[in-house]
Amino acid sequence: MKERLLDLLACPTCGGDILLPYASKYDGKEIMEGVLSCKKCSREYKVTSGIPRFADLAKIEEDKAETAENFGWQWTHFTQENEQYAGQFLGWLQPVSPEFFEGKVVLEGGCGKGRHTRLAAEWGAKEVVGTDLGDGVESAFAATPHLPNVHIVQCDVYKLPFRRKFDYAFSVGVLHHTPDPKRAFTSLSGMVKKGGHISAWVYGAENNEWITKYVNPVREGFTSKISQPMLYQISKLPTLSVFLTTKLVYRPANIIAKPVAKKLFYNDYLNHLGTFGWREQHNIVFDHLVAPTAFYISKEDFEKWWDEIKAKDVEIIWHNQNSWCGFGQI
Ligand SMILES: [Zn+2]
Repeated sequence: MKERLLDLLACPTCGGDILLPYASKYDGKEIMEGVLSCKKCSREYKVTSGIPRFADLAKIEEDKAETAENFGWQWTHFTQENEQYAGQFLGWLQPVSPEFFEGKVVLEGGCGKGRHTRLAAEWGAKEVVGTDLGDGVESAFAATPHLPNVHIVQCDVYKLPFRRKFDYAFSVGVLHHTPDPKRAFTSLSGMVKKGGHISAWVYGAENNEWITKYVNPVREGFTSKISQPMLYQISKLPTLSVFLTTKLVYRPANIIAKPVAKKLFYNDYLNHLGTFGWREQHNIVFDHLVAPTAFYISKEDFEKWWDEIKAKDVEIIWHNQNSWCGFGQI
């Protein structure tokens, strides 16, 4: 934890200022071990392995802890880097471009292994705070030591430990895995100062009926319940069918016979998946099967989220025929 992060922090319980009365280990850049305390209510929060800890998985609701644990395993095992992450990230952030990040104080709701935290920092954000409830924070911290503008915080999206000082907040692929996605979105938007912006990307209800009908029962009843190492092995089988189908059918069809390809089942998304190699596809399939909670959100419901926070100039964009990108001003 960098000491200047204190300017952005606030007690998640009472909103009071956060102080650092005690640091036992400082490596010249980061406070590696220490204790933070609230000036108002005196609650204490630990800093361990360089990360301030505002949430304790042992003490939070079971469904949230389960989601955080399952994804935590994913982000500490699928730590690969991929040069396609930037393009993929921009797809989810539409209509935002890399220049948009320049000079901004940015908050990320759900950073996983930190792949987007890192991109935001490299695109010139003044500060980027990546947050997550699960063990992904360890990978995110380990992936960003060279970036002086990155901060990683372990916390609950419903009880964010920050002041309303952010120019921009974004969350991609995370809100729909929380028990109440709209509440998580509202909480995130509450950290953005007036005139700032927010982006969110969520699974769409539209066009995903086949997932809701056939994949969800398997995920909810089986794959999210078994151990992650076992799922890691088992998920290689569906990955193989996705890999062969996307590489041998969808990619060639989209290159040589576009009008025919357009008629293929779930073409935009499967063609996009076909641009990734085995490791990333395995990660994506695993990701779809590991989540105990996943909501598929209709455009109508998604629009209500933006209405309720009274966002201005809202743009809702349909992405890959299966998900919604939203962007608006607070
Ligand atoms: Zn407090």
